[in-house]
Amino acid sequence: HVMSHVVNYGSSVFEGIRCYNPPSGPAIFRAQEHMQRLLDSAKVYRIDVDFSRDELVTGMVELLKHNGVAPCYIRPIVLRGYGEAGVNPFNSPTEVYICNYPWGKYLGSDAEQGVDVCVSSWTRIAPNTLPAMAKSGANYMNSQLIKMEAIVNGYAEGIALDAEGYISEGSGENVFVVRNGVLLTAPLGNSVLPGITRDSVLQIARELGIPVVEQGIPREMLYIAEEAFFTGTAAEVTAIRSVDKISVGKGVMGPI
Ligand code: PMP
Repeated sequence: HVMSHVVNYGSSVFEGIRCYNPPSGPAIFRAQEHMQRLLDSAKVYRIDVDFSRDELVTGMVELLKHNGVAPCYIRPIVLRGYGEAGVNPFNSPTEVYICNYPWGKYLGSDAEQGVDVCVSSWTRIAPNTLPAMAKSGANYMNSQLIKMEAIVNGYAEGIALDAEGYISEGSGENVFVVRNGVLLTAPLGNSVLPGITRDSVLQIARELGIPVVEQGIPREMLYIAEEAFFTGTAAEVTAIRSVDKISVGKGVMGPI
């Protein structure tokens, strides 16, 4: 409804999940972790969700069975609906939806080539303003500014710095850089979403014996890194070929 709380004040939390279609049959990537993050986001915003994590996962599986679309992207969304018109959200009903649809590569490039990106002139949401650990619709107003600026200037994506000037994240991706063979990514304190792909990459790197460090990363590290890449459900793992027209490493996808 046009007068719903979510339309007027951005009161939603959501998820983005992929279902793959390996030979063994449709497989949702880290379903529990995504639904847990959805409930965590809701908790930050004092939204009571009437479903448990496992009920949400079951609902998502049933939806995919009925719709029969795999591979696909899945969008669970919890929102505050039509109730009172004021800012106080407590008198607007909570609604829960899950949608799924086909979606290919997000950054539209083949991974071998990588993407050309810029550092955004927009700063990522600062700590204690909009909570970055919650995946709320409102956070994506900031993401839209980052994304639009990148597009109109001819880049595939923008990387935002946090309020202190350290690398935060892309409009919809976490960022990794490789320097002296060490894999670096921003810690959660640098206004990043706790990405589930980020977590997967950290786990895989540790299993492969690649040193990983979560630390504040200065902007210029992007220019002198051997490799850089984005991670995200939509972007999956996408190599970054250049930043601000400076090539990353040799400008081709590196070994890591
Ligand atoms: N940061 C932002 C701002 C995002 O929108 C996303 C996509 N959900 C990510 C990081 C990556 O998170 P995930 O790997 O869980 O998709």
